[in-house]
Amino acid sequence: MTRRRDDIALRETEASFSRRDLLKLLASGSALLLVHCGPVPPPPGEKRGASYDWTKHYWVYVVDISKCIGCCACMRACRAENDVPEGYHRTWIERYRIRKDGEVLIDVAQTGEHVFAEVKDEVERAYFVPKICNHCTASPCTQVCPVGASYQTKDGVVLVDDKACVGCGYCVQACPYGTRYLHPTTRVADKCTLCYHRITRGEKPACVAMCPTGARMFGDLKNPDDPITRLLKDTRTRFIKAELGTKPKCHYIGLDEEVI
Ligand code: SF4
Ligand code: SF4
Repeated sequence: MTRRRDDIALRETEASFSRRDLLKLLASGSALLLVHCGPVPPPPGEKRGASYDWTKHYWVYVVDISKCIGCCACMRACRAENDVPEGYHRTWIERYRIRKDGEVLIDVAQTGEHVFAEVKDEVERAYFVPKICNHCTASPCTQVCPVGASYQTKDGVVLVDDKACVGCGYCVQACPYGTRYLHPTTRVADKCTLCYHRITRGEKPACVAMCPTGARMFGDLKNPDDPITRLLKDTRTRFIKAELGTKPKCHYIGLDEEVI
C-alpha cells in the first residue's frame, strides 16, 4: 500500500459528481434530480463494533472472474446473513455465454435455491460475474437522496439510514448498477452494506467468507500489510461502467469486454 494510493482513495471519497459525470449518467437514463450529497455521520442506531474507528480504514472489494464457479454460495450466505427478502438480491451472479457468432447470452441464478439452470447449447466460452453494490466514491444514489438517508461513511462504504429513508425510490432509479431495491415489507431502500456489522468487528463480509474459491476478496487500503492492498498494487483491475464517472470501489480481475 503506497501513501499515494491512500491519498487517491481519500480524495476520491471527497469527490463530488461533476457536471460531465452527471451528463454521462443522464445519457444512460439512470439519473434523476441531484438534490443532496456528501458524507454525513453514521446514524445513532448503526450497528458497529464497539471500538471501531472509521477513520483508520478504507474498505475495498475485489472479484477475480477466473475463480468464480457459479456455485452461488455467496448469494445464499448474503441472504442468510442479511435477511434478504425472497425475490430480491444484495448480490448476484451473472452467467455470460459467448456463441461462435459472437452473440452474448446472459442469465442469472434462479431465485429460491440460487442455482443456474442447466443449459445444453454450444458456446465458445462462458464465465460467471459476481455483482454487488460498487460503493461508488462518486455515488449517484447518495446524491439524489432528498433527505440524506443514503450516505457515505469515512471508511468507504455507502449505507442507508433506514430510520431517515422516506422510500421515495430516487436512489433505486439513480443507481446505474441496479443494486438497490425498496424492501417489500419496510418500504425503505435496501442494498449491500459490505456487511458493515461484520467488518467493523474485524470479520469479512458473509459473501467473501463463504466463497469456496476465493473469487470474492475484501481488504483495507489503509493497511499496508493487507494482502488485498498488496494485490491491488501489483495487479491490473477494471471497473464495471467506469465511463460513468461513479468511481466504483469493486475491482474486477479478468473482466471481459462483454460484461455490462
Ligand atoms: S453501485 Fe449503486 S447503490 Fe452502490 S454506491 Fe454505486 S450508485 Fe450507489
Ligand atoms: S461463492 Fe465464489 S465461486 Fe461461488 S458463485 Fe459466489 S463468487 Fe463464485
